[in-house]
Amino acid sequence: MPSPSIPVFDGHNDVLLRLFMERSATPVSDFMDGNDKGQLDFPRAREGGLAGGLFAIFVPSPRQPRGGTDGAAQAAAADAAPPVLELASAQRTVLAMAATLFRIERESEGRVRVCGSVGEIRACVDAGVLAPVLHLEGAEAIDEDFQMLEVLHKAGLKSLGPVWSRSNIFGHGVPFSFPASPDIGPGLTDAGKALVKACNELRILIDLSHLNEKGFWDVAAASDAPLVASHSNAHAICPHARNLTDRQLDAIRDSDGLVGVNYAVNFVRPDGRRDSNTPLDQVVDHVEYLINRLGEDRVGLGSDFDGAAMPNDLSSVAALPNLVAAMRARQYGDALIAKICSENWLRVLGKTWRQPDAATDRTRGA
Ligand code: ZN
Repeated sequence: MPSPSIPVFDGHNDVLLRLFMERSATPVSDFMDGNDKGQLDFPRAREGGLAGGLFAIFVPSPRQPRGGTDGAAQAAAADAAPPVLELASAQRTVLAMAATLFRIERESEGRVRVCGSVGEIRACVDAGVLAPVLHLEGAEAIDEDFQMLEVLHKAGLKSLGPVWSRSNIFGHGVPFSFPASPDIGPGLTDAGKALVKACNELRILIDLSHLNEKGFWDVAAASDAPLVASHSNAHAICPHARNLTDRQLDAIRDSDGLVGVNYAVNFVRPDGRRDSNTPLDQVVDHVEYLINRLGEDRVGLGSDFDGAAMPNDLSSVAALPNLVAAMRARQYGDALIAKICSENWLRVLGKTWRQPDAATDRTRGA
């Protein structure tokens, strides 16, 4: 039997994309009741111990809808670079996916609450309420005057990746190449550097996953926040262009940032194959490597549920206790497991958002 579920705050999932792509007339009940599709819904989140996480809004590329797997994207990327998306159509999709999340919250009868502070997330975890945080994966819907950014921020946007693995007006994503260095293509545009400054000002987390290496260094130079890659792995183990080199990891460490370990098998396996017959021990290999490189306070989880091919023993969010069991098998103690499963994410979010941690607050008040 797997160990009882412990709370996980996860750095990345694509359930909103799945619900959007399914074009169901009932996305709210599909999520709340589960519809036996995909890898993440409310019942299975409860079962597996998912307490909350960054819920991504992602605008699929026309002609090659991501349809839910990085593997499909990988195959498509071999043919042609995804086209640059048009602003108005990207904005329509972003509004549709954000609306779905807000409707889930409103119709959840208190079981889901969209969070914007670490205090709110902790209160949800304590009360058994699922705590999504709004994340934008690729800024195609953001105009150069940042009007949409301002509005999304007011609507609760707390995290943003300037690019997905394609180009936009802000920069250039890293292609799905294996084996390959992430040093492919030019860095951020001037608009991209301005976006970094705007996110700093609004205290929106800037997600480095999907940026190419030059873009990574441009963010590192321009940002005043900890460097965070929400769903990426160690390039030294799996030399995929989506993974982080030791130099990048050292910069993340020096900024007191965080890496969320991605369970996608093609980012985990040393051979880069999209083979679900991948032992969870190989996921823990990345956790271990990152702990050694970053320190045990700067490693979290970033599943990619509903966005990638998962290992057989982690085929849905309900199986999260299997991952915890794999960490226990490495003799990780309760304190380290709590850090990796949630505490490190809450620490870096608090630092990035510059909001006092509710627990720290209570301590100070006492
Ligand atoms: Zn992604």
